[in-house]
Amino acid sequence: MKLAGRMSRLGTETAFEVLARARALEAKGHDVVHLEIGEPDFDTPAHVVDAGVAALRSGYTHYSPSPGIPELRSAIATFSGKKRGLTFSPEQVVVTPGGKPIMFYVMLALAEPGDEVIYPNPGFPIYESMINFVGAKAVPTPLREEREFRLDVEELESLITPRTRLIIINSPQNPTGGVLERSDIHRIAELAVQHDIMVMTDEIYCDILYEGEHVSIATFPGMAERTIILDGFSKSYAMTGWRMGYGIMPTSLVPSISRLVTNSVSCTATFVQRAGVAALEGSQEPVLAMVEEFRRRRAVIVDGLNAIPGIRCAMPKGAFYVFPYVGGLGMDCRKFADYLLEEVGVATLAGTSFGAHGEGYLRLSYANSIANLQKALSRIDEAVRRLR
Ligand code: PLP
Repeated sequence: MKLAGRMSRLGTETAFEVLARARALEAKGHDVVHLEIGEPDFDTPAHVVDAGVAALRSGYTHYSPSPGIPELRSAIATFSGKKRGLTFSPEQVVVTPGGKPIMFYVMLALAEPGDEVIYPNPGFPIYESMINFVGAKAVPTPLREEREFRLDVEELESLITPRTRLIIINSPQNPTGGVLERSDIHRIAELAVQHDIMVMTDEIYCDILYEGEHVSIATFPGMAERTIILDGFSKSYAMTGWRMGYGIMPTSLVPSISRLVTNSVSCTATFVQRAGVAALEGSQEPVLAMVEEFRRRRAVIVDGLNAIPGIRCAMPKGAFYVFPYVGGLGMDCRKFADYLLEEVGVATLAGTSFGAHGEGYLRLSYANSIANLQKALSRIDEAVRRLR
């Protein structure tokens, strides 16, 4: 079969491939600790599940308007505005099946061949994939451990050209757990205004923050009209399988993004949207409890990794990932990730799954029980000892 040329430019998310390999090993009787997949291991809060079931029973089983049901768009505008100290109108909100489609639609709507898009590297792999897919030029801004994986704003400035159409930022960040400081974000905003560039800010981990307050670039002068916020329910409410996220954007962009929704999925499942209203308007206690548990696990995994000779692990400030340096162990990071999976049954991701600048690192998700994290740590320790 002859595929369209653009298919050769489409990347992927290795997490799903590693998960499949780990499952295949399990099917053969191996025991695997899963630190590869980026989803909370908690249940969706009960009141949210109840609202979804009640919505199904009361007939929320039909199409909804493409940008979402009015009550959810309104709840998102209120809740997200309050969280960021801003005022949003419901007309700025487009609800999608997960936050991921927002990346897809924003790239389709804004970037074309000849345009340049600056994105974090290592970073969520779908940014680079989608930039390439639409035929734009992907311009990486490297994240380095010595800057706690915050992008270097001076370096970012040097990457801007007259063709730069969009800057993507992500804080708290996947895969590093890095968090941009207010001063970094302020300077990025100044650059965006000065050079007339749009910004897509992926804030999907904004609730999973271990110190300080979440700062959105949308709060800085001149940014309201050039910011697309990507957020969603997957991480904060442990709702990955429900598939629901959203974009908050200038109202002038909403018709285009809504039309992309109409052309692709029509709408987000209507009963799921009702559950979303319950998530935002109900108790936030489950979110806080989950973050506190992640905080305990973060200490276990960071201390445990740093105790293994040859591994160095920085303390992440947000999300539920660590990004330890394993580059001194004599193998490239992909080989080391394969070795850990095959030899000792620990599934992790190579840093290069998140871009070339991830070489030398692994991403481990600590969305797993402390007992499993300890099991994984002692297996990694054993695997490293065998290499000596
Ligand atoms: N953005 C980042 C940085 C992510 O890590 C993820 C999921 O892993 C997403 C967006 C998309 O999440 P979802 O489509 O499940 O809402």
